[in-house]
Amino acid sequence: MSDDPGNSPQAAAAGSAADRIRVVLVGTQHPGNIGAAARAMKTMGLRRLALVAPRHFPHAEAAAMAASAGDVLEGASVHADLAGAVADCRLVLGSTARDRRIALPQLAPREAAARVVDAAGGAEVALVFGRERTGLDNRELQLCHCAVHIPSDPECSSLNLGAAVQVLAYELRLALLEAGEVEGVGREQGDAIASHAELEGFFGQLHDTLDQIDFHKGRNPEAAMRKLRRIFLRTDLRAGEVRLLRGVLADAQRMARLAGR
Ligand code: SAH
Repeated sequence: MSDDPGNSPQAAAAGSAADRIRVVLVGTQHPGNIGAAARAMKTMGLRRLALVAPRHFPHAEAAAMAASAGDVLEGASVHADLAGAVADCRLVLGSTARDRRIALPQLAPREAAARVVDAAGGAEVALVFGRERTGLDNRELQLCHCAVHIPSDPECSSLNLGAAVQVLAYELRLALLEAGEVEGVGREQGDAIASHAELEGFFGQLHDTLDQIDFHKGRNPEAAMRKLRRIFLRTDLRAGEVRLLRGVLADAQRMARLAGR
């Protein structure tokens, strides 16, 4: 545990965008919620936890609720106040159960996650959660650039702290996967969204192949290409998928050559 997030072992090891995203829990009353938050984070690939004046920490209930996320708890930094926990952050978002009653720009979870992942490309970012009973006070909210509200039922708008961390950590995971910052199950390492040049290379080869296999038969080749481009541009092709498609085209071109076209 350390009081300086900039010098903590976690920060020293930080390399990826996920490692520059810090979850800050302010004034947590129930140690079980700290453990639940740590587990929620770890399941979504987040590791950096900062605690501001927790009522009980460390605590056996926190460890029990963390289950396999004990390392996140052990690496947590502890601070006297919120300003100390976010001093080195360039973007600070405060999550709040109250909708529209605060004088801060308010983001939906998905927008907030996109903003956080974008900023975490080059800077430290904090997502702050308040006390179980009273949330974040006005002074703490003033330290935040924006508020995030999970659009819960206004009749019962307050999620359990661990559940709120889980929802926002899940949105962060989706945004990190979308940005190619982390690897998801079934996606090959480095299989990023295809670049403009890779797609244009594929479209050029598709154009030539359609000629060679006499697909057009007198119809307008450009109209067909426009439709085909639309289909492929709709699908977020990965670089590896473009290589596979080009392999298929290369075989079709080889067959066309063999057939003397
Ligand atoms: N009665 C408190 C509820 C606190 S719940 C209040 O009115 O603020 C504990 C923390 O969980 C909150 O401070 C907030 O950080 C998070 N939280 C709970 N429900 C949320 C929601 N619907 N949207 C965003 N954060 C929420």
